[in-house]
Amino acid sequence: MTLTGVIAQKRQVVTTIPGPKSTEILKRRSAAASAGLGLTIPVVIERASDAILIDVDGNHIIDLGSGIGVTNVGNAAPKVVENVINAVQKMTHTCFTVAPYMGYIEVCEALAKLTPGTHHKKSILVNSGAEAVENAVKIARSYTKRPAVVVFEHAYHGRTNLTMALTAKNVPYKESFGPFANEIYRMPMPYPFRWIGNPSTITEDAIEMVISKIEKEIGSHKVAAILIEPIQGEGGFIVPPKGFLPKLNEYARGKGILFIADEVQSGFARTGNLFACEDENVVPDLIVTAKGIAGGLPLAAVTGRAEVMDSVHAGGLGGTYGGNPISCAAALGAIETIESENLVSKAKKIGEIMKTRLTQMQAKYPIIGDVRGRGAMMAIELVKPGSKEPNGEAMGKVVKYAQENGVLILTAGTYGNVIRFLPPLVISEELLNDALDVLEAGFAAL
Ligand SMILES: *Cc1c(COP(=O)(O)O)cnc(C)c1O
Repeated sequence: MTLTGVIAQKRQVVTTIPGPKSTEILKRRSAAASAGLGLTIPVVIERASDAILIDVDGNHIIDLGSGIGVTNVGNAAPKVVENVINAVQKMTHTCFTVAPYMGYIEVCEALAKLTPGTHHKKSILVNSGAEAVENAVKIARSYTKRPAVVVFEHAYHGRTNLTMALTAKNVPYKESFGPFANEIYRMPMPYPFRWIGNPSTITEDAIEMVISKIEKEIGSHKVAAILIEPIQGEGGFIVPPKGFLPKLNEYARGKGILFIADEVQSGFARTGNLFACEDENVVPDLIVTAKGIAGGLPLAAVTGRAEVMDSVHAGGLGGTYGGNPISCAAALGAIETIESENLVSKAKKIGEIMKTRLTQMQAKYPIIGDVRGRGAMMAIELVKPGSKEPNGEAMGKVVKYAQENGVLILTAGTYGNVIRFLPPLVISEELLNDALDVLEAGFAAL
């Protein structure tokens, strides 16, 4: 049974947040689960469907985070649930590199068809975004026989040792966890809101800086890959200026450097395209996907040019659980839902609604310094009025207000002052507007 249609898609706050039952269970969480784990909203969830989370006290909370951009097709989407139930009744595990099964192959076929470019593509499936990024780097080094990897300011690529090194921000991701992998080189990121140069030449100036640094400080013949998020996620939904990604891709191609798009957060219909790269017709050599791929089950992938993906010796890639049959069945259900529910155009529509309303709020509340993003991947950056000084304090208050009124929102940003919106793409306009009303009331209450 799925809960779609059973759980009303309505916000309903029936206790203080957290309520008494959540408060009790959170004491057990503190006693049993590591203090190193963060906590966004202090409630314990019992059930969920589409864009509503129900906690143990019966509060119906609007989900504007999708479990960090995962449940793009909605929580417990019917086709995902159905596929998972059918799959788990057939088998639980064989290990694809020991004894293959159909679901893995079907997901690879779907990825070849759906990702940018019409060239022959192949994939590997793994468990998490970080594992996929690590594998993309392994494959790029194996293919090019070069050591260096170029990454950017504000980048986030994961929490494993290599991906921590690829990630920009120290606290909380890297602090006390070193030493880190070497041969990683960080480049300036054109961050339009905080660019100190001339805004009208940001693309050209940023490209010139990046190319100069690669040529002078590394040597392009030593660079295996340029790794970039087409819209940066944890860094604060930074959208590079038009032209930057195509020019970077063109430069890479000219130097035999692989262009790797980390679409873990921006992929699977999130931005109003199936993949964010498509906005400027960028065709990456390798594309890394995870989060939205399987409607909530753990799955991630590296998809790329067949000759690149095949350059690795047999047995060089793999992992016990990678592309588990249950996760593959979920992914096929999620992909089917993205198509049948027109979630690419829904994401565009969500983006239009959010952009309009957030821009109206910005005109009223000068602490909203910037409204940015694309499709259902929008953010606001909060500042001290009349300046660009980060205002993390106001962000904290607005987030808390929203939580207490039954709206879950996530934060982000190098400076800890960005509110990001990642609603499930199936959210109704009514529910979205209700959540935005709460947000606006939060600004009014400051
Ligand atoms: C979340 C994320 C990752 C890491 O994915 P995990 O599944 O958490 O390991 C990598 N890159 C980007 C852009 C992400 O948003």
